[in-house]
Amino acid sequence: MAPQTSPSQVPVGVDPTRPSIARVYGGFLGGKDLYEVDRKVMTKINDAVPEAVDIARGNRGFLNRACRFLAQTKIDQFLDCGSGLPTAENTHQIVQRFNDEARVVYVDNDPVVLAHGRALLEENFRVHMVSADIFVPNSVLEHETVRRYLDLSRPTVLLQVGTMHHVEGDHAPRIMREYIDALAPGSYVVFSHFYDPQTPEHTPIAKRIENILVNGPMGAGRFRTRDEILAMLDGLELIKPNAPSPPGLSICDEWWPDGPRLTPLSAAAHCIVGAVGRKP
Ligand code: SAM
Repeated sequence: MAPQTSPSQVPVGVDPTRPSIARVYGGFLGGKDLYEVDRKVMTKINDAVPEAVDIARGNRGFLNRACRFLAQTKIDQFLDCGSGLPTAENTHQIVQRFNDEARVVYVDNDPVVLAHGRALLEENFRVHMVSADIFVPNSVLEHETVRRYLDLSRPTVLLQVGTMHHVEGDHAPRIMREYIDALAPGSYVVFSHFYDPQTPEHTPIAKRIENILVNGPMGAGRFRTRDEILAMLDGLELIKPNAPSPPGLSICDEWWPDGPRLTPLSAAAHCIVGAVGRKP
């Protein structure tokens, strides 16, 4: 589906005059669910940083590999916050390949995501879509669908991938703390965030994109430092399965890569980091 800006074709609840994080990000991944306002944001970002697509691809590749990794643990319940538009491979498709009884609850607040999600998941009774504000943890954790299908007293995988950089101010560590506190011991958190590596090569890239996101109609999208990001993962043991690299925060593309890298990573690819943390 390629939405047009003609009002008669705009689904109920969608504002075609405001760009959406989900649609712009989906556009970078090759999706076609874009309005003119979304294309304008993409063009601005591409003009400022032609390799910006590597941030979206690095992020999504990390999410997929982290799901593949965790699906091989005994954990069979996944809470995917800010799930985004369906793409080539989604959390439920990856984890149910390893365990067809795994349950996945997706949470988002974008009307296009919710509509696609519900349609896609109709035939899979172990997958559910919830409309809630992921930055208000109680609205997710206490949601009746989450309570009905996930037992949070058992180990769970919580995904906050490509979401917390949309929180302005210094609320993100508190929000993550509320989620982590609600998880049972042995649970995992899959997490990624825009990153400012604080080097002369990378900081200008981070600042250019941040300026477009924060000062434009999107209104949010912070590139944070290593310490600022680690503060959101307090209390977790960060794992990285590809020894001998040390565990911890990792450039998304370098977290459990599928094979040897044949070409060097672009500078933009260094501006998104991911981590998988285990709650002891
Ligand atoms: N997690 C997916 C991934 O990494 O591929 C999608 C990431 S996308 C950049 C961010 C998603 O978070 C979008 O789908 C957006 O609609 C959703 N989102 C942003 N703010 C939200 C909020 N306050 N409540 C629920 N969802 C939100």
